[in-house]
Amino acid sequence: MDKFIIKDILSVDSNLSIKECRVIAGNHDVALGVLDENRELYSFVLCDSLDKMIAFGFENKPVSLIALPSKIYSIEAVENSSEHSFFVYDGEEYKLFIRSVISTPYINLLHRYEQILPSSVKNALSLCSKAADEINMPVYLIGGVVRDLIMGKASVDTDISVEENAVEFASFMKKKYGELVDIKEIHEDFKTVKMIFHTGAEDVQIDIASTREETYSYPSALPSVKNIGCSLEADVIRRDFSINAMAVSLNKPTFGDLIDYLGGYEDMKNHCLKILHPLSFIDDPSRILRGLKFSARFDYANDERTEYLERECLESGIFDNLATDRIKLELRQALNLNMADVYDRFLSEGIYRLVSTDFDVSNLPEGKVIFENIEKYGAYLEDREHIWLIYLGVMCASLEKEQILELSKKMNLSGVELKVLLYTNSIVKHEEEISKFETMFEVYEFFECYFNESVAAAVSLFKNNRAREFADVYLNKLQFITINTTGRDLIARNMTPSPLFGEILRDILKEKINGNIKTPEEESIFVDKVLGKR
Ligand code: ATP
Repeated sequence: MDKFIIKDILSVDSNLSIKECRVIAGNHDVALGVLDENRELYSFVLCDSLDKMIAFGFENKPVSLIALPSKIYSIEAVENSSEHSFFVYDGEEYKLFIRSVISTPYINLLHRYEQILPSSVKNALSLCSKAADEINMPVYLIGGVVRDLIMGKASVDTDISVEENAVEFASFMKKKYGELVDIKEIHEDFKTVKMIFHTGAEDVQIDIASTREETYSYPSALPSVKNIGCSLEADVIRRDFSINAMAVSLNKPTFGDLIDYLGGYEDMKNHCLKILHPLSFIDDPSRILRGLKFSARFDYANDERTEYLERECLESGIFDNLATDRIKLELRQALNLNMADVYDRFLSEGIYRLVSTDFDVSNLPEGKVIFENIEKYGAYLEDREHIWLIYLGVMCASLEKEQILELSKKMNLSGVELKVLLYTNSIVKHEEEISKFETMFEVYEFFECYFNESVAAAVSLFKNNRAREFADVYLNKLQFITINTTGRDLIARNMTPSPLFGEILRDILKEKINGNIKTPEEESIFVDKVLGKR
């Protein structure tokens, strides 16, 4: 039988401010039932959420920002409910029911573990497991690696958590296993450790975290840590989505047992992304981008409440132009998936507002166009990890240089990253001039100053066919044209090295690109002619 926390309800209108709602709630142990414009009960808010929003300085925002839309059941129908919280109407009044424990079926993932994880990772985990058993310390696989295991694939990273201090655990392992393991990095604030295991054909890195709780002193801040070594149940609530909040026991008696306090397994079955509490996006709006990434990668959709809270958060404008380095990190991962849909949703759902509200979204090409150009010119990129910059470069094309510099500063872009954006912007501003080039060498001279990433981004924005064709011919052909003549050939003609060498070689290239010279012999004749004239 499920257990519930049951709360009385005080009704408030959805356009009331958080501050006004807090006054109405007073000292009563109630939930606020939020009424829609037809004065129908549709969602609720708890006092601790109101208090947190006030502490964040959002007291004048409407309560709808953090109100959770909820179903209404009759008292007889409660057992048919599956939601974490919902209203119950007993014929006289409404109450809020919050499930205190989500009952999940017993699942053991040992089989998957054996099948899917590479043996080098299993060797490393088995050392962790033995060490933890010896000192009676609960140890778990945690987060994305568990999600991936359920999906039947191996994760790139392996994260484990101990329900204790991970730094002490790592030192214990180092003492016990000596040269088999190395501590690579310790993060004292979070009490996390990166450990390298030399226990298989190749070295394996395992990230070991201490279970912990986190609080945000202001929205999107780096969280402060408390209760290192807290229960796993308290740890998982700080995570982003239920599918990323599951653990697998690595201790002997329960090895492989799935621990799923928040219904992640069920959500995976339903292909659903669910945040874990109503202030999740307020605490860390980069989770909106994480959601975009995961939903595209796994073909999942936000559950109704997550969708609602995301929309409220974006529409409220409180995180407009945030553009922190965390936003950058998640944006890079999301756009590097190179899926047209990610970019289209980034714009259409207003997620771009987290980066910059200055993008001229009504004039941007569809994701499909950019995707096709990346596919077409992908082989010519300096680095495939720059794909996200092509999408971002397209968005930045309508900005002024100063706005891009400002954005770059906020997002902590590297020099190269900034240049890709500035170059795209500059190429696009020269579209007309490009379309009027008369020789291929003019085309070459123009584009050679830029990164191919920027040229590929600009092609997606060009409206002029001639400009597009010139960019295409540069990327596919001109950039690869080389000459046979070298400085040595000029010395062999009794010339003394001087800046003139560069000029002559450049002239040969020009003639070759313009199609006037084709063979090495023609190059040699051309050199004779130039030297003769001089
Ligand atoms: P990926 O396959 O993309 O690496 P992942 O889930 O392993 O996915 P990480 O960024 O490595 O992603 O994060 C590891 C875990 O840490 C997540 O599964 C999640 O539990 C937690 N996490 C990461 N970022 C956040 C965040 N911004 N807010 C809350 N929890 C987070």
